[in-house]
Amino acid sequence: LSPVPSDLEISRAQTPKAVDVLAKEIGLLADEIEIYGKSKAKVRLSLLERLKDQADGKYVLVAGITPTPLGEGKSTVTVGLVQALTAHLNINSFACLRQPSQGPTFGVKGGAAGGGYAQVIPMEEFNLHLTGDIHAITAANNLLAAAIDTRILHENTQTDKALYNRLVPSVNGVREFSSIQLARLKKLGINKTDPSALTEEEVSKFARLNIDPSTITWQRVLDTNDRFLRKMTIGQAPTEKGYSRQAQFDIAVASEIMAVLALTDSLADMKERLGRMVVASDKDGQPVTAEDLGVTGALTVLMKDAIKPNLMQTLEGTPVFVHAGPFANIAHGNSSVLADKIALKLVGEEGFVVTEAGFGADIGMEKFFNIKCRASGLVPNAVVLVATVRALKMHGGGPSVTAGVPLKREYTEENIQLVADGCCNLQKQIQIAQLFGVPVIVALNVFKTDTRAEIDLVCELAKRAGAFDAVPCYHWSIGGKGTVELARAVREAASKGSRFRFLYDVQLPIVEKIRTIAQAVYGAKDIELSPEAQSKIDRYTQQGFGNLPICMAKTHLSLSHQPDKKGVPRDFILPISDVRASIGAGFIYPLVGTMSTMPGLPTRPCFYDIDLDTETEQVKGLF
Ligand code: ADP
Repeated sequence: LSPVPSDLEISRAQTPKAVDVLAKEIGLLADEIEIYGKSKAKVRLSLLERLKDQADGKYVLVAGITPTPLGEGKSTVTVGLVQALTAHLNINSFACLRQPSQGPTFGVKGGAAGGGYAQVIPMEEFNLHLTGDIHAITAANNLLAAAIDTRILHENTQTDKALYNRLVPSVNGVREFSSIQLARLKKLGINKTDPSALTEEEVSKFARLNIDPSTITWQRVLDTNDRFLRKMTIGQAPTEKGYSRQAQFDIAVASEIMAVLALTDSLADMKERLGRMVVASDKDGQPVTAEDLGVTGALTVLMKDAIKPNLMQTLEGTPVFVHAGPFANIAHGNSSVLADKIALKLVGEEGFVVTEAGFGADIGMEKFFNIKCRASGLVPNAVVLVATVRALKMHGGGPSVTAGVPLKREYTEENIQLVADGCCNLQKQIQIAQLFGVPVIVALNVFKTDTRAEIDLVCELAKRAGAFDAVPCYHWSIGGKGTVELARAVREAASKGSRFRFLYDVQLPIVEKIRTIAQAVYGAKDIELSPEAQSKIDRYTQQGFGNLPICMAKTHLSLSHQPDKKGVPRDFILPISDVRASIGAGFIYPLVGTMSTMPGLPTRPCFYDIDLDTETEQVKGLF
């Protein structure tokens, strides 16, 4: 339709096929799905065993240039591309997307189902709750947080013997260690299985974790943009007198448990990763883990359904997995390894799986290659780099773009000079993708105000910068048939064979790995570590965690650490203010400059427009 209706109106106008019909179409057996409502289902991991001998399809990543705060259409290109491949070129394909956080949905950016005639439906179910995976993460994360502070309180208020008696209670006169406790004894080098056989010294060693409260790195989380939780004091009630401390909430999608969900490849692996998560150091400087706190099993129970990918569909009825949702600026920014692995089997050798990495290629794509592909062992065949004329104009010196504020004239009228000047960002992002040896196809997501001359210029400059191809895409206004040219280019690039390589060797010292990313990817002159960052790096190296990949927490609005520096900033020194360790997820997590792990709300958040028609029960105002 012209003009194109709102995302929600388009989504609602199309009745999704029943999810069991979709599941059957893509070759799933009845007992391999668990249906949630009419249009969502979880897919059981047993499928991987059944299809283990099936060759994988082609693996395509959708990344982008440095975006405006409005988003440049990576999700909608991802959906448009699979719609074109499946519905128009008759090639089996799957889109793998992240589950949106309710922070942006009610905050600045709105939902993340794609948009126009290339989106996941029903978009309100996609954007709100889905099947509860983020809620499960929040519950698991906060159970662990509660376990830490409570343990400190109990250790400080009880004798060794009393603690031990409570941790290993006598039931009908019999004391027995649980399996988690037996594992802890083994870790402590105490080779005993009879609780009454421990010496006094061993009882103390076993019962006390001796957590140093000043080293606690595990934070509470909530899936709401609530800036007032960025710093707070916990333990203010009289019952916790003497145990108050400074703490903070992070947005739920920044939880390490979200990263574990996104990077795991089986239930057993997830359990191990959850147990390995380091939450603090003890008073001797040794790491304290979730396993030490005895909570691994409970965390696994809370996460047992979340591990199954969620099946939904595009507007044109093609399959989509929605699974895990870490942000790319403050987390690793990619959907789950499991969804990609299952989808690669389901599409068959000739098929395509299109997965999306968050924000610009400098962050989402870099982490896709260095963290996600390292964890999964999967080799990508091509990168689709999404660009828009409006973002390029911003990089060329156009006025700032703010969500909720109408775009200035520079963006609604032809301005060749701004586009030409801004293409430096596109060229740099193409070069970043090339560092990894994978062919790049530029997808220019066309808006109705873009002119022929502007579109031709971007495609020409992209090809000159080394892109395998560059094509204008019209999926937003006309659906999959507007992305057929992109689909053909992707098919051709993927048939060439990829010479994929990682950017750095994980065995390098942590500082060297950070420096490599800063210089080779962001274009920084060098890095500068705060004393806090340096001491954390020393601690993690000494604890034996030096050989993990790096997950940079950096603004998505610039290649540098300063959001207002557009285009290709040069000669800057990248400040590393702090470093955290996500040992269960398997990465070191440096914070660049003043990155906040809890977003805030603007003056007029998206929730102003969101409402429910109580007669029809229809949601209004989501976009
Ligand atoms: P990203 O994944 O890069 O953040 P999205 O695909 O979520 O971006 O798109 C962001 C918003 O922009 C959505 O509301 C979408 O409907 C809108 N949008 C995307 N492409 C176009 C286009 N070509 N014309 C108009 N609006 C668009």
